[in-house]
Amino acid sequence: MVAVKAETESMKKKELVHSPILTYFSVITLLSTCPPFVILLWYTMVHQDGSILNTFNYLKEHGIEGFVNIWPKPTAVAWKIIACYALFEAALQLWLPGKTVEGPVSPTGNKPVYKANGVLAYAVTLVTYISLWWFGIFNPTVVYDHLGEIYSALIFGSLIFCVFLYIKGHLAPSSTDSGSSGNIIFDFYWGMELYPRIGKNFDIKVFTNCRFGMMSWAVLAVTYCIKQYETNGKVADSMLVNTVLMLVYITKFFWWEAGYWNTMDIAHDRAGFYICWGCLVWVPSIYTSPGMYLVNHPVNLGTQLAISILIAGILCIYINYDCDRQRQEFRRTNGKSLVWGKAPGKIVASYTTTKGETKTSLLLTSGWWGLSRHFHYVPEIMAAFFWTVPSLFNNFLPYFYFVFLTILLFDRAKRDDNRCRSKYGKYWKTYCTKVPYRIIPWIY
Ligand code: NDP
Repeated sequence: MVAVKAETESMKKKELVHSPILTYFSVITLLSTCPPFVILLWYTMVHQDGSILNTFNYLKEHGIEGFVNIWPKPTAVAWKIIACYALFEAALQLWLPGKTVEGPVSPTGNKPVYKANGVLAYAVTLVTYISLWWFGIFNPTVVYDHLGEIYSALIFGSLIFCVFLYIKGHLAPSSTDSGSSGNIIFDFYWGMELYPRIGKNFDIKVFTNCRFGMMSWAVLAVTYCIKQYETNGKVADSMLVNTVLMLVYITKFFWWEAGYWNTMDIAHDRAGFYICWGCLVWVPSIYTSPGMYLVNHPVNLGTQLAISILIAGILCIYINYDCDRQRQEFRRTNGKSLVWGKAPGKIVASYTTTKGETKTSLLLTSGWWGLSRHFHYVPEIMAAFFWTVPSLFNNFLPYFYFVFLTILLFDRAKRDDNRCRSKYGKYWKTYCTKVPYRIIPWIY
């Protein structure tokens, strides 16, 4: 109970990285604007040729009523598709074999345990989906043709799911890593539990973030490709570059999924609207949007340009992977791994847990982590640019994800710096002196 109270205090501090007014304003704005934005983006991509101006003119002419008319009702087909997909992914998460791995020590001293079967679940999902199409059992174009209804169902279904998380956090938390900030809006938005589970083994955040959200990105990328093939009888090289790069990125994600369980999303951000609604709705709609645009815009890049973009994108994904790998190997080997062929630069940082125990942790100060404190965000943003640029520059909307990601990661770097400063104190200050740039070396 003491630990829960202390944790609650740390939550209150955590939410207020920005001023209280700005925090309230951004939380309320995001809660109210994200759902309609998902529908507007889909509508503009699929029905207005990707042109923001066309949608703007439509809304100017038809007003609120026009907007209500374009919002699709969640149909039975949409619910069926979502239910089959969610149950299939939940079953794979529970029953596919995998090594047991431990997550990092939580603020109250717990160590969550996971089953690492992400690569297998990813392979089974894609093979099953493509086989269903190949053998004529289920045509993925049905998903594309009901996309608006699916997003609409996801928006409402996920909101209800977040209410369930809020109630569960209050009535039946799965561990001591839970607590209320004392503010109903923050509790709903940021979440209450760090590691909510159903039973002992079904981890809700692994499901929402990885097996539903990230997996849906891959499934939809394939869907868009198949839709273009079924419509035009061929797939344009722009679509191929986009799909391959997204699939390489998602393959990397599942290859490294156990590493993801050590990152901010899982180890620091609680299960609420921000993370869970984001992964259940924002990932399948916004993250996949460059591919959604390309379905009806089959640009031909030519072999040379297509291959150049492909290579540049794969390089960025590799560097992003290598940054994460370098940090994790360094921590796993207790600072003994070689970094770029040399002994790593490091800071031994001590900190106090919410239970009052003193622990130590290592901060890497060389390799990618010596260039800037969040250098890994640079290749992440660049990769997004490379899988979007095949759509060329006729419309801005396909670049929305790229712009959104840039803002998200710049804000995240700030949040993470603040969190690490309050966790490590003078040790973080030393790191900032050694590595003065936050994201872009010599610039920011
Ligand atoms: P990180 O994996 O970078 O985790 C940050 C944590 O790492 C810090 O809180 C700190 O945790 C630890 N840390 C910080 N500096 C050091 C250091 N020098 N040496 C050792 N450990 C350090 O953060 P993210 O979760 O943001 O990113 C993970 C991956 O996910 C990245 O590849 C990123 O690009 C990607 N990502 C993608 C997003 C998308 O929407 N496409 C969104 C966010 C991330 P501790 O308390 O353990 O010390």
